[in-house]
Amino acid sequence: MFDNLSDKLNSVFKKLKGHGKLSEKNIDEGLREVRMALLEADAHYRVVKQLIADIRARAIGQEVLESLTPAQQVIKIVNEELTALMGSEKEALNLSGAMPQAVMLVGLQGSGKTTTAGKLAVHLRKNGKKPYLVPLDVYRPAAIDQLKKLGEQLSVPVFDSSPEMDPVEIAQKARQKAPSEGCDTLVLDTAGRLHVDSELMNELSRIQKAIEPSDVLLIADAMTGQDAVNMAESFDQALDLGGIVLTKMDGDARGGAALSIKAVTGKPVKFIGVGEKTNALEEFHPDRMASRILGMGDMLSFIEKAQDAVDEKKAADLEKKLRKNQFTLEDFRDQMTQVRKMGSLNDLIKMIPGANKSKQLNKLDVDERELVRIEAIINSMTPAERRNHNIVNGSRRKRIAKGSGTKVQDVNKLLKNYSQVLKMMKKFNKGGMRAMTRNMMP
Ligand code: GDP
Repeated sequence: MFDNLSDKLNSVFKKLKGHGKLSEKNIDEGLREVRMALLEADAHYRVVKQLIADIRARAIGQEVLESLTPAQQVIKIVNEELTALMGSEKEALNLSGAMPQAVMLVGLQGSGKTTTAGKLAVHLRKNGKKPYLVPLDVYRPAAIDQLKKLGEQLSVPVFDSSPEMDPVEIAQKARQKAPSEGCDTLVLDTAGRLHVDSELMNELSRIQKAIEPSDVLLIADAMTGQDAVNMAESFDQALDLGGIVLTKMDGDARGGAALSIKAVTGKPVKFIGVGEKTNALEEFHPDRMASRILGMGDMLSFIEKAQDAVDEKKAADLEKKLRKNQFTLEDFRDQMTQVRKMGSLNDLIKMIPGANKSKQLNKLDVDERELVRIEAIINSMTPAERRNHNIVNGSRRKRIAKGSGTKVQDVNKLLKNYSQVLKMMKKFNKGGMRAMTRNMMP
């Protein structure tokens, strides 16, 4: 996500850095390119105009022009303004009100509503809630079946809706039944259409009035860019949305929807969908997203993913080790085995600050099948070798290769990758985020 935009912005910053001191003219030239990059990413033109004006007002001030590191100051301002544009603070799911609570999902057909219902059930369960999936798309029996199957797969109860029933009646019955199913939070998967139409809006509005859900989330496909923004406006007028979930952010969405939807509708993005699997839902943090867009990585989301995949204690230990530069090959192996649970390794690497700027890490294009080999190699090492990779000399490498059924080159490659990760971690620890970005920016 955001790859193109990140590349473009980084080339603008690189040019700015080349100037040493910056004049107003340099800044205006740079901002013109930033503007183009944002428009190409399909951000809303009015939003871009305001954003550039805000950045400019700050960037031509004394703070930048007289700074010893003016380009850094500009990047900092862009980072802060992008964060503000996307809403500044993370907005959580609203689960206030009487039990059982209800979260209502609305959106066009194909936007990812049913998939997101499953993902939200997983999210709710992780947060100590007991979700109850309720299919309300009585026009498409296949949609009801899809949710029933998903519920079965996740061991989450699903209300037994049937196509002859009225959606409002279903929702009311589900709410009555929830306690006996041991559930406290309804996830209402409403009907979708191919386009916004008044019949659909009336139905959704009837459900909303009857159930009074604590949150109403619009599920919007990020790949549709400005269409998603326009659609959000229509749904918001009819339903007064609580927030938005942008799906398919893992695809080639250019990012325009994520950048503009809050500014245009006033409603926050609460989650993003980053894959088809049921764990591919992330909370939306404007500051982290801005860092990702600027290629500064997203260490916190990385650590959170690790926390989800491993248990809490292990994740806390890992974080401590990373901070103390005590990340051994054993930890590396444990991480590798957990990684398969966390999604694509290449996507994870992108979250490491500066990773997309680091040639070595970009080369670290890890084939998922290679994980098995890596595990075998590390298993063939002695505990002492795993704790201190510096002692692994030529003859040890030969022994390890033989023991793991691999080649010496494979062992060399693993040790090289590992020491590159160590180097990255050291940089990250030394000066925190700011030093990191300074080191990593071109
Ligand atoms: P609905 O008609 O709105 O209920 O949409 P579905 O939940 O059936 O999703 C439509 C398609 O989008 C399915 O193939 C999903 O697997 C896919 N999908 C949903 N969310 C995501 C996502 O975040 N990333 C990707 N890559 N695919 C998604």
